[in-house]
Amino acid sequence: MISEKVVKAINEQINMEYASAYIYLNMSIEMDDQAFRGYAKWLFAQYEEELEHAEKFLGFLQTRGAVPVLKDIEVPALEAKTPLDVAKAAYAHEMKVSASIDRIAELASKEGDRASNAFLMWFVNEQVEEEESTRDIVDMFEFAGDDKAVLFEIDRRLGEREED
Ligand code: MG
Repeated sequence: MISEKVVKAINEQINMEYASAYIYLNMSIEMDDQAFRGYAKWLFAQYEEELEHAEKFLGFLQTRGAVPVLKDIEVPALEAKTPLDVAKAAYAHEMKVSASIDRIAELASKEGDRASNAFLMWFVNEQVEEEESTRDIVDMFEFAGDDKAVLFEIDRRLGEREED
């Protein structure tokens, strides 16, 4: 049995994943506008990945016999303007998501809900990767500074991101 508490927490996570998708889509639009087409493409792929995360949580609730409840998704104001600022905001956001998933896993443990816990472990591992990939991009843009040739090369490389 899945408890009401865990259902509520996962419902909130569904909203957070869709909100994450929106955050990345917004970043992608901004980077595209600034002609960082490679980074825009990377961010768009991330947007699609966040949609998949939301669907995974949603499907899990349904598998457990619970009914997902959709909530409004806020359109975030994008304060980050440069690619480095965007990268930093993405990394900070992923750390927030990791903390949220850890909290749900902890709650599931407390509720003795092993099935939810086993399911959540996929996300715990996924967040390790998300933190690493977003942190790597911060490092790259920090390294580039104002060097246009290096920025161009980083952008080109980010555009090579494989769809996963
Ligand atoms: Mg996610």
